Amino acid sequence: MTTTTSLLSTALRLAEQGMPVMPLREGKGPMGNCRACRKNVCGGRRNMKTPGTCACAAPCHAWAAATTDPDVLTSPAWADAWRQAQAVAYHPGGAGLTVVDLDNADAVAWARQTLPTTKTVPTTRGEHWIYRGTLRSVNGVRPGVDLKSTMSYAQWRGPGTGAMVALPEVVRALAVKQPSVVRLKPGIVTATAPAGGGECRHRSPAYLERGIAMAEQRIKEAPDTIHKTVYRTFLAVLSVHGRCGCLTDAHIKRLFTAAQAKGESLRNCEDAWTNARTTLGM
Ligand SMILES: [Zn+2]
Ligand SMILES: [Zn+2]
Repeated sequence: MTTTTSLLSTALRLAEQGMPVMPLREGKGPMGNCRACRKNVCGGRRNMKTPGTCACAAPCHAWAAATTDPDVLTSPAWADAWRQAQAVAYHPGGAGLTVVDLDNADAVAWARQTLPTTKTVPTTRGEHWIYRGTLRSVNGVRPGVDLKSTMSYAQWRGPGTGAMVALPEVVRALAVKQPSVVRLKPGIVTATAPAGGGECRHRSPAYLERGIAMAEQRIKEAPDTIHKTVYRTFLAVLSVHGRCGCLTDAHIKRLFTAAQAKGESLRNCEDAWTNARTTLGM
């Protein structure tokens, strides 16, 4: 079997298991965008961070091209890419997975001390530790450690060994940009944003902004049942924006400020926030 057909057959096998796959070129990067999509002039694909209308048949736009569709994978538009391919990659987020990419021996040693045992796959200098569940992909969360899940790809390096377990909190915490702690008054640790990790449903800062502004407005107009309004509003905001990791300290602070302006105590705000998160299992 030539490399091309063996890579394609690996890709088709993975696709059948529900993993969106794509070819990697020499140097193990994604294929470059085609002429029509160069520099994203096409606007990008609909599954990208800024959803576009590109329906290009070629494997363009890096991870966003990854697919489970065997007809696409074996289409003439992909044939050239498979001929040049040096490896197969998969889109972990699209398969409901997170790859903790440990680049070197130190990173692997850290993982062995810190992370729950799961399925592991050896790489050139390190290991991939694979968990069930998705989160925001972040490179360099620690020296030699990348998180690859949504909007990302990882090279397929074989099935690995060990039983896959659910994404642990310790890994989710690594994906959170800054410690999401709101300090409205000195010394008082208050609310935190959920770590996120789900697919982002709002997909635009404007949508999130509108949601927060509406929530502020709702609290501002609340009648004397302020406790209930605050709780319900937090619940609404968290249910729409809580899972993708886009909520920041600043958003929470705005909600708390709106509630406090109506006489709600900081303590009640914190409780309402915590209760809303508990209700939603975040
Ligand atoms: Zn395009
Ligand atoms: Zn294209």
